[in-house]
Amino acid sequence: MTARILIVDDDDAVKNSLEEFLTILDFTTYTAESAETALALLKTEPMDVVITDIVMKGMTGLEMMQVIKKNYDTDVIVITGFTDNFSYEEAIARGASDFVFKPFRLDELQLRLKRVLRERALLREQTCMMEKFKELAITDGLTKLYNSRHFYHELEIEIHRHNRYERPLSLLLIDVDHFKTFNDTHGHLEGDAVLHRIARLIKSCLRTIDTAYRYGGEEFTVILPETTCPAAVSVSERINEVVQTGLFSGDDPKKLSVSIGVTEYFPGEPMDALVRRADKAMYLSKQAGRNRVTMVLPRSEGAGQEVPASETKRSILDI
Ligand code: GH3
Ligand code: MG
Ligand code: MG
Repeated sequence: MTARILIVDDDDAVKNSLEEFLTILDFTTYTAESAETALALLKTEPMDVVITDIVMKGMTGLEMMQVIKKNYDTDVIVITGFTDNFSYEEAIARGASDFVFKPFRLDELQLRLKRVLRERALLREQTCMMEKFKELAITDGLTKLYNSRHFYHELEIEIHRHNRYERPLSLLLIDVDHFKTFNDTHGHLEGDAVLHRIARLIKSCLRTIDTAYRYGGEEFTVILPETTCPAAVSVSERINEVVQTGLFSGDDPKKLSVSIGVTEYFPGEPMDALVRRADKAMYLSKQAGRNRVTMVLPRSEGAGQEVPASETKRSILDI
């Protein structure tokens, strides 16, 4: 894709010759006769570089540059006559990527433009790499879910949001049943592949605002914002079901199940109390025979004190 360049000058002779020159050099070229027209154009047409005169009727090139630098990822090269009252330092300080004096030679402008574009490409590459590093730092390599470090970070944010807006927030803790036996029987590599598939199945049961994490070994967590505990139980039952039906193809005799603990955030309680309660609920699922969902509600008064699941919720234990 060729770079998109916008030329802004109220002098038609300069503007037209620049346009002709840059078009021959194969740039996608746009023109505007004032800063106001240029800013209107930028709203719909993203540009890589704006080449602008400074002294124009209406808004000056430097004023326009400030608006551009604030709102767009666009470089600006300014052009000015020797007699004008603007210095190189002032233009650079206000954000210009380069500065050309009038009358300028076209090949000089070409060199400066190419340098600006090269630096721009380099910066993009660096930004892209930084994004990738950031993503890697919060991603679990095997399952491609977020890792536990990111889990704690996101849970803290959700808890703050909950405390500020009093929105419901639920948490799931999912542990694969008898996974050691599975590894011993089918090998660690098959175990790895299964963890990857379980992660995909968990994600397939979630909405876009829900997030799944590999908490550790064969354990996963799910943060469900805007979700009450009974609704989180429904999600858990779906996860429990798809792991049993969708993990292996029909003629594969292998079987696996998960035990899930569900709980809801109690206003004001610390994060670790919430995580401990989800862990406790999961442990109750294990104790009750595995392959099931157990919810533990926080007591309505007194954070962190659990009450057992109610009779109706207990039926969840029988699935
Ligand atoms: P339980 O039903 O009580 O949870 O039994 P379990 O065997 O799943 O639990 P235990 O904690 O005894 O063992 C967990 C197993 O998970 C042992 C370990 O080898 C396996 N595991 C943990 N991380 C990985 C992994 O990354 N890949 C594979 N293949 N196995 C893993
Ligand atoms: Mg475990
Ligand atoms: Mg386990």
